Amino acid sequence: MKIGERDIELAERRASQERDAAIRRAQAALTGEGSRMCRSCGDPIPRARRAALPSATTCIDCASEVS
Ligand SMILES: [Zn+2]
Repeated sequence: MKIGERDIELAERRASQERDAAIRRAQAALTGEGSRMCRSCGDPIPRARRAALPSATTCIDCASEVS
């Protein structure tokens, strides 16, 4: 099979889409909508934890229980 410009273009497009998706995932993890209340037990999530992990949706207790 001969690799043409179209194949290269498609491969590059796919690679950049994957890169964009990875960046979006990373940004969501860093700045994504978290929760003010623990999704598991309903307790408020301490501000320090939300500052450290803005996307957190559970309190430290629940996060450490999940395994
Ligand atoms: Zn909790």
